[in-house]
Amino acid sequence: MNTVHIMEFQEMMKSLYFHRDSERGIKGTYEWLVDEVGELGEALEKKDIDAAEKEFADVIAWLASLANITGIDLERAAVNKYSGKCPKCQKSPCQCTF
Ligand SMILES: [Zn+2]
Repeated sequence: MNTVHIMEFQEMMKSLYFHRDSERGIKGTYEWLVDEVGELGEALEKKDIDAAEKEFADVIAWLASLANITGIDLERAAVNKYSGKCPKCQKSPCQCTF
């Protein structure tokens, strides 16, 4: 199995779908992401791990699409905020209270 960085995945999604994503726009693409998150929730509710795996893929794909049309570098955003410690308590593992 190939390993790819988040940035490479986002670039691949850009090559595949940017023309369609940019035509659909931010609102429509966001709504697709929300739908896919809902489908992930349903798969988890049913404890259907095979279906959940596919929905995880759809969620990250739509998240990458949305990041592409909003000009956000997902990898940079994620690593800037979550750089080996909890952004709230600055500890690893997190020691925030629930
Ligand atoms: Zn914390």
